[in-house]
Amino acid sequence: MTTVGILGGGQLARMMVLAGAPLGLRFVVFDPAADACAGQVAPLQVGAFDDQQALAEFADRVDVITFDFENVPAGSAQWLAQRRPVFPNPDALAVAQDRLSEKTLFQELGIPLPPFADIRSREELAARVAEFGTPCILKTRRLGYDGKGQFRIRGAADVDPAWAELGGQVERTGLILEGFVAFERELSVVAVRARDGEFRAFPLTRNWHVDGVLSASLAPAQVTPAQHEAAIGHARRLAERLDYVGVFALELFCRDGELLANEMAPRVHNSGHWTSEGAETSQFQNHLRAVLGLPLGDTRMIGHACMLNWLGAMPEASAVLSQAGGHWHDYGKQPRDGRKVGHATLREDSPQALAQALEQVGQALGRQSQVGPVVALLRDGSAG
Ligand code: AMP
Repeated sequence: MTTVGILGGGQLARMMVLAGAPLGLRFVVFDPAADACAGQVAPLQVGAFDDQQALAEFADRVDVITFDFENVPAGSAQWLAQRRPVFPNPDALAVAQDRLSEKTLFQELGIPLPPFADIRSREELAARVAEFGTPCILKTRRLGYDGKGQFRIRGAADVDPAWAELGGQVERTGLILEGFVAFERELSVVAVRARDGEFRAFPLTRNWHVDGVLSASLAPAQVTPAQHEAAIGHARRLAERLDYVGVFALELFCRDGELLANEMAPRVHNSGHWTSEGAETSQFQNHLRAVLGLPLGDTRMIGHACMLNWLGAMPEASAVLSQAGGHWHDYGKQPRDGRKVGHATLREDSPQALAQALEQVGQALGRQSQVGPVVALLRDGSAG
């Protein structure tokens, strides 16, 4: 009997647990919150991520350790790695936690990306804004997610407000300025690398964000073979350089047909949730297989899939459940403004059938604006 320890007890841990049950796995989830939603499906140990005594207890209960949350202090991950195997390795985690080191690595690997600069003072910010031109985006280097810790600078007059909002974080999280990418679309590669170096990628996913938060994902993304090859090649080089083990996502912007890297997420990813029903093996099970040194599962798609995120509160389930290819995921969380509380995946054999199912769900739930761009793309492959 193998017990997997997961640091972080949110929906990603919850879905990992559900995917690991058929493999006969046991789990212990570690989270600072007593109501962490993975605690509904696995034993939960409540503790702070920097509480060594709690971490030691956790390590004693498990055989191998992984993450649902990438902002576990790198020191804690390193400390645990001296006691139990930790995947992905703490060095890879440390790189992916920091936008500056991650982007520096992209650059070293020849992965195209927008201009970026480490920002340490208001003067440096003003100088770099002048250099990059506007718009551009000031972000925290660490601890930002879902568009939080970001300030869009639309003109030179925004330098002071941006500094007023984020300048206070410069010591704690660091700051990075990025050139703004007027992208046509956003894509992600969700890929997995095994302990023995085997690498597999799911088909590219097309993503739509609203206010910096993922709203919908469609797979397969309609990209050219060259774009597909480039994206997967970038992901593979990244994984090999980091000696990465497990699932990760590489988020990309597509501008004038060219792919530019945005960021890497060192964990299973929201844009890969469709794999639970839309791929031969889900990202969750493939992550566990990688971490445990088991053979990886096939990443091929079954038809066409679209995932819709539910933020704030769960909508009425029956509109999705009544669809032949409708799948419902309620994370068991308390409703809260903007919080990811669940998702649905619609899977169909053809783009036309998927468009129809999405339209019906969008109408029934009053979410035409969420499904609209996906439906338009599916109905007219050349749009968007
Ligand atoms: P992030 O937290 O970096 O993934 O940003 C969240 C979302 O904000 C992205 O998915 C984009 O929609 C948008 N965004 C972030 N950085 C940029 C950028 N440099 N140019 C244009 N849009 C961006």
